[in-house]
Amino acid sequence: MSVQREDLNLQHTTMLRGVLRLGIALAILAGAVPARAQGRGPGQAPQAAPKPWDNQSLSPDQRADLVMREMTLDEKIQLLHGGPSGGGGRGRGAQASATPPAPPTVAELTERLTAKRSNGGAGFIPGISRLGIPDLQMADAAVGVTLGAARSRYSTALPSTIGLACSWDLKAAYEYGALIGKELRDQGYNMSLGGGANITREPRNGRNFEYLGEDPILAGHLDGQHMKGLQAQGILGDVKHYAFNDQETGRQIGNVVLPDKRAMRESDLLAFEIAVRDADPAGVMCSYNKLNGDYACENSYLLNDVLKKAWGHKGFVLSDWGATHSTAKAALAGLDIEMPGSAFFGDALKKAVETGVVPMARIDDMVHRILRSEFAVGLIDRPVARQEVVDVFGGLDAAERFAEESIVLLKNVGGQLPLSAAAVKSIAVIGSHADVGVPSGGGSAQVNPPGGSAVAAPAAGPGGPTYYPSSPLKAVRAKAVRAKVEYNDGADVAAAAALAKASEIAIVFCSQPTSEGRDVASLALPGNQNALVSAVAAANPHTIVVLETGGPVAMPWMDQAGAVLEAWYPGIRGGEAIANILFGDVNPSAKTVVSFARSDADLPHDKVFGPPAAPGAPPAADGRDQLPPFDINYTEGLKVGYKWFDAENKTPLVPFGHGLSYTTFAYAGLKTTVAGKAVSVSFTLQNTGQRAGTEIAQVYVSLPAATNEPPKRLVAWERVDLAAGQSKTVSLEIDPFHLSVFNVAKDGWEVVPGDYTVMVGASSRTLPLKAAVKLP
Ligand code: BGC
Repeated sequence: MSVQREDLNLQHTTMLRGVLRLGIALAILAGAVPARAQGRGPGQAPQAAPKPWDNQSLSPDQRADLVMREMTLDEKIQLLHGGPSGGGGRGRGAQASATPPAPPTVAELTERLTAKRSNGGAGFIPGISRLGIPDLQMADAAVGVTLGAARSRYSTALPSTIGLACSWDLKAAYEYGALIGKELRDQGYNMSLGGGANITREPRNGRNFEYLGEDPILAGHLDGQHMKGLQAQGILGDVKHYAFNDQETGRQIGNVVLPDKRAMRESDLLAFEIAVRDADPAGVMCSYNKLNGDYACENSYLLNDVLKKAWGHKGFVLSDWGATHSTAKAALAGLDIEMPGSAFFGDALKKAVETGVVPMARIDDMVHRILRSEFAVGLIDRPVARQEVVDVFGGLDAAERFAEESIVLLKNVGGQLPLSAAAVKSIAVIGSHADVGVPSGGGSAQVNPPGGSAVAAPAAGPGGPTYYPSSPLKAVRAKAVRAKVEYNDGADVAAAAALAKASEIAIVFCSQPTSEGRDVASLALPGNQNALVSAVAAANPHTIVVLETGGPVAMPWMDQAGAVLEAWYPGIRGGEAIANILFGDVNPSAKTVVSFARSDADLPHDKVFGPPAAPGAPPAADGRDQLPPFDINYTEGLKVGYKWFDAENKTPLVPFGHGLSYTTFAYAGLKTTVAGKAVSVSFTLQNTGQRAGTEIAQVYVSLPAATNEPPKRLVAWERVDLAAGQSKTVSLEIDPFHLSVFNVAKDGWEVVPGDYTVMVGASSRTLPLKAAVKLP
């Protein structure tokens, strides 16, 4: 019996092919693979014969339709769920009493194929070799390709996306996605599980480091560019976690309550809307949580009404891992793929079709969405070829560049920074294992460090973070070659303060470990770090604090510190990037994309929502939480982040959009013109300091009072490079969509006529230029 050419898609070893043939042979012997799938018999057309859908002049939709004409129901179902089967052993169990020997189920066949062909990533869906439809090899890849990819060897650990977002740099976001896409290809993956677009509604969310900040317009466009860069490499993209998965606590059972459609569309959903419209991603991953009573993966409002109908998403919806809860309800609500197993979308879905509970047309729609995305992105025309080795040095350079654009200078009293490498005589480097590395975010986004964590357990603390081997201490020593640079681990506050006192400069590293699966209890830095900073700053007026956090933290010592840098989780070249900023080889340009509250009491909710105090049972066999269900009441509605602080008249410790440079900028001469609903803005930006720098100029708008919107929203921005003394006229068009409000009665966006105020400046709270405009 011959195995078709398309099986060679696997590009694996001859041995693997042999095993595969055996797997398929087994399936055929068992009578479960349809005759059409059994390969060509003697005398049939040569295997390389072109197929009608190979014609690249046809549209992705036409090509998908041509493939589907050839597909059996079993083959269609095979594309709609991952393997191996998961979800608590359903499927086969239901048939246990059938007269033996029962033919293998869809789930079992999938499992057999999976065991042989998966690349070892987080997800796998066997393709259909006789039709040239490739296996889907999925890897988590939020900040780089993860080693959930069991067989990959090295991938670049980029700075976390919250840092990338602080560059406000759409081009950098594209390049970031492109680098990940390229490394996925090199390692034999053809789908990324990345592209987190959840906004920072809950600043204590353990996954904020994987997201893009609190503003939906900024986050949406950055995510869109990330996806575009990724998909341009011929890799299927995925935007996740749709939607309102803004906290990790009880994520599998928490019910987000936000009945106001306008609040939904103008906050979390807006970020997804922009990303989907900008990038046309192949996949959108629905999240674990419920929204207004229905699980996200069976929520017809989210999937059918908004994502597919209103936004015109042409790709598919896949469930987060184990987030599928039903067959018919989920299928009819718009879920297209169950991951990672087949408890609901395997045999159960086949049965639902055969009994008419789920119409065949819906199955065809699911399959069409998958196939058309594969054609659109180029998966079939440019099959992925595993190369084993990624461009390591290219990745390191890119990681350093992204980190340098992501580090925010929050405070710099009297020009304490940059440090002079030539003049400084002694430096105390304190805390957070800065002698050996930089921390990273945990969970499915974790990219394995080359050679293992630079700080092994138990030194990293229980469940402590993985450290990348990029030592800030070494990088500081490499710059300040004439200085005595000593390290203290910060455990003994008095000893650290004594070293600081004896040194000319003290640099204290403070870290906040965050991870998927858990939130931080409060904005406070954990352990003794606040006491450490206070003691060091009391001992040495030249104290510089470097934060390595997954999100905003409270800084009760802010007034004491000479300078503060927020480096987030800065990736595999984080130590070098931090030193480049500290010593002024790079002039910082980033601006924070999250507001830093003074304390938890200033947030919309002083605690993260959680289940009632009753002790929860341990997780069930399928890994799902057994906590009692609970509501997550987002009473702040669309007032997320700075919109909350503005509306409540609260002053944040650090406002959204803030970030300093080693030079200074002046804004002047705002002009606005209105043509229909289009508003153009121009102003002069001058570098008034002594060195070249980049300013992220921001444009906010307040809407007519009748709209009842929060006081202002970000509508445009630009990164402007200026030599010392240079002036430039900056001209920006405000996209009318960014001025729109969602009209629930009309179920659509509209620009409301009336009086608007355009405000321009360096942050959400530093807006020296203002102009009134009237829109018709
Ligand atoms: C996470 C997803 C991830 C998936 C596969 C889930 O637990 O929420 O972000 O892509 O696992 O690893």
